[in-house]
Amino acid sequence: MFAAASQAVGQTEVTIERPLTGQPHRGKVLALITPHLDDGPIFAGGTLAKLLGEGYTGYFIRTSNDEKDSYDLTLGQTVLANEQDTAHFVEVAGLKRSFDLSYRNHRMDDVGRTELRARLIFLFRLLKIDTVLSYDPWGHYEENPDHYVTAQAVEAACWMAGGKLDLPEHFAAGLKPHSVSEKYYFARGPQLVNRVVDTTRTVPAKINAIRSCKTMIEHMTRDLEGTLADHKLRLPGLTADEFIQTALLARDRAAGAKHGLEYAEEFHYIGPDHSLDEYIKRNAIPLNG
Ligand SMILES: [Zn+2]
Repeated sequence: MFAAASQAVGQTEVTIERPLTGQPHRGKVLALITPHLDDGPIFAGGTLAKLLGEGYTGYFIRTSNDEKDSYDLTLGQTVLANEQDTAHFVEVAGLKRSFDLSYRNHRMDDVGRTELRARLIFLFRLLKIDTVLSYDPWGHYEENPDHYVTAQAVEAACWMAGGKLDLPEHFAAGLKPHSVSEKYYFARGPQLVNRVVDTTRTVPAKINAIRSCKTMIEHMTRDLEGTLADHKLRLPGLTADEFIQTALLARDRAAGAKHGLEYAEEFHYIGPDHSLDEYIKRNAIPLNG
């Protein structure tokens, strides 16, 4: 069993997802689901822009209230500032709308997992989500409980949303079972990468998405200035854009360089199950045949 598992990992093939022409995803619906506003723009902003440009309708589900992420605001002011930035991100990214689940930031390991999962199942059925972009529930060395709690709830909700006996009261309200068929999982640390998305063309859109997280970017840059000041140093040219280019896009350049691309984002991708396609093609007959 151990040998088989490690062999399977070693044999993982990487698919390069390149830009598509036209709008091949028209009619499909995606959800970006993260605890924090900046997670998606930083780790998947290029892919999000690519998929929306190729026809997807998109929603953002933010599971935490981001109350801890500002430089010099109070807790309450921080919630409001990040809520306003979220509205800006939705507009800039071209998403249809966001849903704030508002669990307390950095405390999501306290959240009832079945409650979070149930809220996601409701939204997956309501919005008929086909594709999710979220943290990898199996990413290694993740230190933020908000990230792994959200990721695990998303993964379970994706298939349970298709169950007739899961939350059956939804069906009395007019919803139908609806499972999610495609997943793009990103991670801060090591993960099993099998999909590399060429994001070279959507870097400008990604930068705009990151810029919209104004409160969080200011937090990052001013923290850096504070650390440097402790060492009697300063960076006179450090603007938010310089920081985005230097600190946040380096990962995309490095991912691209591995595959001969200028910029790329890496994922563990799980697609629809095609294992019975051949059997069905050979044996299926029309319903009334
Ligand atoms: Zn985060």
